[in-house]
Amino acid sequence: MTTHVAETTPLLALDAALDTLLGRLEPVGVERVELSHAAGRILAEDVRADRPSPPVDVSAMDGVAIHLCDAHTLASDGLSIAGEASIGAPVCSLPVGTAMRIFTGGPVPTGADVVVMRESLIEADTIVRLRESADRIRLHQHIRFAGENAICGDMIARAGSRITPAVIGALASVGAGSPLVQKRVRVAIIVTGDELVSVAQTPTPTGLRDSNGPAVASLLAQRSWINVVSVERVRDQKSELAAALRQAMQSADCVITTGGVSMGDHDHVPDVVESLGGREVFHRIAIKPGKPIFAATLPENRLFIGLPGNAVSALVTARRIALPALAAIAGAPSQCVGPDARVTIADDGHDMGTNSRTRFLLVERVGPDQVRLLKHKGSGDLPAAANSDGFVEIPQGSEGVGPFDYYAWSDT
Ligand code: AMP
Ligand code: MG
Repeated sequence: MTTHVAETTPLLALDAALDTLLGRLEPVGVERVELSHAAGRILAEDVRADRPSPPVDVSAMDGVAIHLCDAHTLASDGLSIAGEASIGAPVCSLPVGTAMRIFTGGPVPTGADVVVMRESLIEADTIVRLRESADRIRLHQHIRFAGENAICGDMIARAGSRITPAVIGALASVGAGSPLVQKRVRVAIIVTGDELVSVAQTPTPTGLRDSNGPAVASLLAQRSWINVVSVERVRDQKSELAAALRQAMQSADCVITTGGVSMGDHDHVPDVVESLGGREVFHRIAIKPGKPIFAATLPENRLFIGLPGNAVSALVTARRIALPALAAIAGAPSQCVGPDARVTIADDGHDMGTNSRTRFLLVERVGPDQVRLLKHKGSGDLPAAANSDGFVEIPQGSEGVGPFDYYAWSDT
C-alpha cells in the first residue's frame, strides 16, 4: 500500500512555493495595440517626449499679455488692445505699449512677459485698464514656459507601468498612438467533478452547481492583462480531463483547474498533467485552506495551476498564488497583485486556529487599516465568503492581531 509521503515530509512554505514557481515562468511576449485599446495593459517600452511640453510659452489664464514696463500705464490710463494671440496660431508679436488679448493655452506674443488675468481688468471699447495696483504684477506671472513640464526626450511613461487613463493621455500627447504592450495572458479554466452541473441546470440531490468556474473566472477577469478564453467542466475521468487539457493548451498560456488535486481516488489532475508532459513545481503547501494546490509547467512555456475544489480554497489560492504567477508571465509589476493593505484584526476573541501553516481568514473591512474576522464553517463556506470583503494572510508561526496583509476580492 502506498503511504501519503507528503504527510510525513514538511510542507513547502507559501513564499518558497511562489518563489520557485515564479522562477520557472517566461513572459508571454509583446504586441502593439491601438491607444484606444491600451487602457489597463502593461507598457512594454519606455515612451519619451517627442517635443517640449508646453511646446512654446503659453498663457495659464484668460486675460491680456503685456510687457511689465507697461504695468503702470495699464493701471492709470489703460492700454489699447492690439488684437488676440489666438490659441493654436503662430506666435505673434506685441506692439510696444499695447496689450494683446490671450486665453488659456494661447501662445505668449514676443515682447510680452506678463499675463494679467481677466478678473483684474476693466475693458471699455478697445482700451483695457487694471482694477488694482500695478505693484501686484510680477514678471512672468501666469506664463507656462516652453518645456516646463517636459523637454524633448524626457521620460513620459516607463516600461512595466500599468496604462492608466493619465498614462493614456500622456501617450497621446507625445504621439504614441500604438504603444508596445505586454500581451494579455490567455487563461483556460477547467472545473473537475462528477458532482457538478452548470448554474443553469438542476443538481441531483447530492450534486452541486459549479461555483468555482464563475468565481475564479471573474476574479481573474478583473485584471485587464488577463484574458479568460474558456471555462469548461469535466467529469473525474482521466481521458476526459486529458482531452480538455490538451484542447486548452492550444489556446491558452495558462490552464487552471479546480478540484481533483487531493488524495482521493478520483483526484486525477496531477497524473493527467504529467502524462501530457507537465513537470510538477509543487503539490501541497503549508497553507490553510488550500493545502492540496498543485502547480506545474507545461510544454511550450505554458503554466498549469490545479486549485483545490473547495470554494473558499479555490478563491484564496487563485488570488494569492495563481494571480501572482499570471502577473509574472504577463510582465505585470508584482505590486499590482500584492496585498491591498496592511491591517490589524479587531480582537473579538475569535479562535484563529493552528499556526503551523499560513492561514487565510475571511474578513470584513471595518476601517482603512482594520478588519473583523467573519465566522465561517470551513473552506466550503461560500456564503461566508460572499459576506466578506476579502481575507487576511497570517504567516506561518504568527500570533496576535497583526498587522497582516489584506487582500480584497474586488480590484478597485
Ligand atoms: P475536490 O478537491 O475535487 O475533492 O473537491 C473538494 C470539494 O469541493 C468537494 O466537496 C467538491 O464538491 C467541492 N467542489 C469541487 N469543485 C467545485 C466547483 N467547481 N464548484 C463548487 N464546489 C466544488
Ligand atoms: Mg472533485
